[in-house]
Amino acid sequence: MSNRNISTRSVQIGVGRDEQTGGISFPIYPSATYRHPGVGQSTGYDYTRSGNPTRDVLEQGIADLEGGNRGLVFASGMAALTTLFLHFSAGDHLVLSEDLYGGTYRVLADVFGKFGLSATYVDTTDTAAVEAAITDTTRGLLVETPGNPLLGVSDLEQLGEICRRHEMLFIVDNTFLTPALQMPISFGADVVVHSATKYLGGHSDLCAGVLVAKDAELGERLYMLQNATGAILPPQECWLLIRSLKTLPLRVQRHCETALTVARWLERHPKVEKVFYPGLENHPGHELSQKQAENFGGMLSFRTATADLAARALERLQLISFAESLGGAESLMTLPAVQTHADIPEKERERLGITDTLLRLSVGLEEADDIIADLEQALAD
Ligand SMILES: *Cc1c(COP(=O)(O)O)cnc(C)c1O
Repeated sequence: MSNRNISTRSVQIGVGRDEQTGGISFPIYPSATYRHPGVGQSTGYDYTRSGNPTRDVLEQGIADLEGGNRGLVFASGMAALTTLFLHFSAGDHLVLSEDLYGGTYRVLADVFGKFGLSATYVDTTDTAAVEAAITDTTRGLLVETPGNPLLGVSDLEQLGEICRRHEMLFIVDNTFLTPALQMPISFGADVVVHSATKYLGGHSDLCAGVLVAKDAELGERLYMLQNATGAILPPQECWLLIRSLKTLPLRVQRHCETALTVARWLERHPKVEKVFYPGLENHPGHELSQKQAENFGGMLSFRTATADLAARALERLQLISFAESLGGAESLMTLPAVQTHADIPEKERERLGITDTLLRLSVGLEEADDIIADLEQALAD
């Protein structure tokens, strides 16, 4: 990681790397295979699953942004997580945030469960609860902070210390804040995960995933798993993601500003019972966020007075789209209980507070006044 500002490093990804033409935009290399100069010789590229020049530029770029040693990019966030979980063995146990992306829960329960990898979900904003869940076979902790969809904030430094003490892999899903706001490796994370479909891609037009390993040895092991199982990101998508990363810090800053404005407006709305946004002073993770992140991000959730009102508001939206996903230029709203978190058993959802009155809003890059006007008409009588 150079000591240049992250905005500069984002913009400069790939610049100066196209030695043949000097192209500012690094080219897409679609070739599946490469000519060898001679027997036992290689240009550095043999076969595209094992290595591709466009992917290399992206992987090095994202590793640099996260302050890690090795970056790897995958066909989706779930492909990245799946490859990471393959690092573990039958009999191993993981501890994870209970306020977690539903797909991560599903792949562990329905896929890895039958291979003998077990998981316990705890409130990772409570470090004592994390300690208590650790057993002799616990090999890793996976944290999402802020959580999804309730935006709970977990203490990265303390959790990193617990993982070091118990010799567990510390994994942070940094999808919500991105390295523009939060750098988990600087707090002791061994691996950072992203659904690059979200803020890194940033335009709702690309599906991709990222792993960044803090050290070379783990990076090599994850590369082996990526090459062995093959869920790589194709070169055209790599190029699109390089293009997106150039504006990441700029976009994220605007997402944060608008989200705070919208959160403050929602907080005063008579039909909104509660707003979950770490940027609000009354959020329990407000101070911790200020300690470990540059800003509070573009995601917020809120609880309406009744389930009918939540459903009606979604149907009335005109500017904001009623759609899953997040992190794009376009504002998106979902009902996590029936969409992103539907795979979590109902009883568990109720306990967590993921009810049918909870709406999640990914605040886009539209003008704050226009987003607020849409919410106002959607929540009206
Ligand atoms: C979307 C998401 C994922 C899964 O990523 P895909 O790109 O949809 O496969 C993982 N973690 C978080 C926090 C997400 O929001």
